[in-house]
Amino acid sequence: MDPLDIVGNLHKIKPVFQPILSAINHGVIGHEVLARYKQDDTWLSLGSFFHDPDVPEEFKVEVDQQVLQLAIEEMLANNSDGMLFINRNAKQLMVNNGEDLMQLLLQYEEKGFHLNRIVIEVTEHDFDEDFESLSHLLLYYKTFGIQIAVDHVGAKSSNIDRIRQLEPHILKIDTSIIRTQNGDVFQDIMYSLSMLAHRIGAALLFENIEDDFQLYFAWKHGSRYYQGFYLAHPSFQPVDHTSLSMKISEKISGYIQREKNLLEQRHNFVKKWEQKVRSVLSKWEGPKKADIFIQSITEQFHEESFRMFVCHIDGQQVSSNFRKKTDTWELEPHKRGSNWAFRPYFLENVMQMKALNTGLLSGLYSDIETKEMVRTFSFPLTDQHFLFIDLRYAYLYDHECLLA
Ligand code: CA
Repeated sequence: MDPLDIVGNLHKIKPVFQPILSAINHGVIGHEVLARYKQDDTWLSLGSFFHDPDVPEEFKVEVDQQVLQLAIEEMLANNSDGMLFINRNAKQLMVNNGEDLMQLLLQYEEKGFHLNRIVIEVTEHDFDEDFESLSHLLLYYKTFGIQIAVDHVGAKSSNIDRIRQLEPHILKIDTSIIRTQNGDVFQDIMYSLSMLAHRIGAALLFENIEDDFQLYFAWKHGSRYYQGFYLAHPSFQPVDHTSLSMKISEKISGYIQREKNLLEQRHNFVKKWEQKVRSVLSKWEGPKKADIFIQSITEQFHEESFRMFVCHIDGQQVSSNFRKKTDTWELEPHKRGSNWAFRPYFLENVMQMKALNTGLLSGLYSDIETKEMVRTFSFPLTDQHFLFIDLRYAYLYDHECLLA
């Protein structure tokens, strides 16, 4: 398509609305507006027009203004409530200091379309441009109640400082990176993004959701909002949840049951392990005989564990490392005396075990020595000494509830 044809035929352009659903009330909280261009008898996406760096920004502004105007009029005519998500790149926003957009929005505010219903999506790529000016402009928009979303978060991972500075209301995550990234890399990206979102008070929105697994994944990773073909295709009118064929309430209640089930199974594992340790607890004769104690329990955790040791509440290891080599447990006495209190969660965990007198299962983490993903089950032998049982990845892998 020739960009000149597009700008010369604004009457052939129409907005389409893609619904965005909420995990909180399971309804449609708004729509992302996209542009379609009528060529012969088909409506084509204008994605390539907007992403082409050779198309002058002024052209894009003109088409976007037209689409936005039609979209708001459509929503007003339909009495459709909810948010309107619009895409703008940095260069486009900078044309005329972003005033074209602001003037248009103010004009519609007078007609009853409040500015706090607008969400401007900017992409992380845009941060490479003049970030300070972009940041100022977005702050200015925010003072009118306009919300900011950062689109395609995680595609480039180096912008955490800039995302922090913008304090956007929403982080949009492209679910297709689940499909393209290696699982561990993606888990790490997700972990950092959910921490970031949590700390700056931004909501996560997973977009491009195409199947049930991806919706489950988004839900499980704390996504407040969802968007994608699996939920709804874009259409020429904004919709509400009653017209969607996908019943997200049913899906989510299925996920809740599934998750509860996994948590219950995991809890049963922990109870079983606690029972095993309690059954030999009478053999604990103090830290000087810690190795003898561990010897009495290796057999019980032969299948689950590859490493065990005992620590004092101040972090000091009082036993050898017991390490399983294929079928036998070997001792590493030189590990005695190591201090682990600096490790994340160590003190918090031992204090909790001491207070509650129950075992504890850690989250998944990468073992420093083996580089494999592991979890640790720990148990208070007394209020001063704690048994640590590192669980093999292969064992965790065989039990879905231990990986979740
Ligand atoms: Ca977008």
